[in-house]
Amino acid sequence: KVRVRFAPSPTGGLHIGGVRTVLYNYLFAKHHGGDFILRIEDTDQTRYVPGAEEYIYQTLEWCGLHPDESPKHGGNFAPYRQSERKEMYRKYAEELVQKGYAYYAFDTAEELDAMRARLRTNENPSPQYDRTVRMQMRNSLVLSEQETADLLAAGTRHVIRIKMPENETLSFTDLIRGEVTFDTSVVDDKVLLKADGMPTYHLAVVVDDYLMQISHAFRGEEWLPSAPVHVLLWRYLFGEDAMPQWAHLPLILGPNGKLSKRDGAKYGFPVFAANWTDAKTGELTEGFRERGFLPEAFINMLAMLGWNDGTDQEVFSLEELVQKFAIEKVHKGGAKFDYEKAKWFNHEWIKKLDVKHYEGEVKKIFVEKGWHPGVESYLEKVLNLVKDRCTLLSDFWEHSYFFFKAPAELDTTPIKSKWNDTKEGFFFSFAKALSSLSDWSAASIEALFKQLAEQASIKPGELQLPLRIMLVGGKFGPPVFDIVQVLGKEEAIGRIHSGLN
Ligand code: GLU
Repeated sequence: KVRVRFAPSPTGGLHIGGVRTVLYNYLFAKHHGGDFILRIEDTDQTRYVPGAEEYIYQTLEWCGLHPDESPKHGGNFAPYRQSERKEMYRKYAEELVQKGYAYYAFDTAEELDAMRARLRTNENPSPQYDRTVRMQMRNSLVLSEQETADLLAAGTRHVIRIKMPENETLSFTDLIRGEVTFDTSVVDDKVLLKADGMPTYHLAVVVDDYLMQISHAFRGEEWLPSAPVHVLLWRYLFGEDAMPQWAHLPLILGPNGKLSKRDGAKYGFPVFAANWTDAKTGELTEGFRERGFLPEAFINMLAMLGWNDGTDQEVFSLEELVQKFAIEKVHKGGAKFDYEKAKWFNHEWIKKLDVKHYEGEVKKIFVEKGWHPGVESYLEKVLNLVKDRCTLLSDFWEHSYFFFKAPAELDTTPIKSKWNDTKEGFFFSFAKALSSLSDWSAASIEALFKQLAEQASIKPGELQLPLRIMLVGGKFGPPVFDIVQVLGKEEAIGRIHSGLN
């Protein structure tokens, strides 16, 4: 059975790269009728940020990417939070030591610092604990069995490190990159179990992928350098045959290389999925949600960052993506994030969706602007009329506020010089005729308007701008007869009368 996982560390807000990883995992799982698991990798207590886990749920919820199993939703492989699985990992680390693939290291922080200071050169600015130094350190490879046993019995602080083999070539098949090969000599002896008894990411990810029966593991390209450690752990603990199939997703690039959180501030576009308040600084970063993006557009845009179905189609619903997604079609090279393109997707989705889908969100924005909710069906009519002009949900107000309050002032500059009594007379009779118009449609309002204009011998084109100004206050807004129709009889007539005063 296909089982995939998204395994974030709760260290902050979800960056679009993270959400794309979730999305590709989700699409793959659902395409194959499999399970999508959310596992919280919180073993690094120093990087833990309160609120980050809740933020992850909220983001997935907003995006409509619901996990089948998670710390919150439960599942057969619970617990799904690694800190709650702490006791499970030690035995695997000990097993590796017994088999000779790992060792106890008792070096103190001072000893490690001294080693780095001793070996640091210009060519090697950050010396690693690796095959070249391990025999000069204080660990069970160097100490006698008795010495090691004594130190352990005395409860001496220690970690367990993997003993990276020398000069071995490791390879595995990545679903996106094909065969990937590593030389083990360039990898250091990574810590597997920390002094506090917590596993590091390397041990925990392998043990949990095994215990949770993960079949495919997709993660960011930044994890590729760690892959040899994981392949070895699989080989030593569970057999490489049991290893999930890996795919390392290419980076999302910003205007200057890798897209960073800071790009949000620098380039004027947000890269978080939703609002994120930094617990330490209290700083609020706006996300796509708050910027007025629709989740449909957001995930569509993300899906296309590095994938397409081989045709020119760009607008896909989540269901279509599930149907068409293939991990092998993900591009090897980095995908460039373009905020303007993101907005294009949103515009397409605003047009495409029934306004009922986002009416609630728009209403919230309107209320913030001081609008008091009126009749729902009126709001719906207005939104339908202006939706084609809106790129972000926040644009709706600018394009429609005049439907909710009559203009306080009219900008008559464009028509002043051409205004005369005949035109005024026309508008009095138009207002009167409107009051007895029975078919209240834009088309019959327009027909009436033209008929009266003809009777008054004025070109209808010369009357439309004055009408618009009376209705909305200036030279803007949707087609003028649509405005009359949506405003409704009473309001439209009222505005014409006040305009004439
Ligand atoms: N915990 C890792 C992260 O925060 C997950 C990497 C993986 O999916 O294996 O990105």
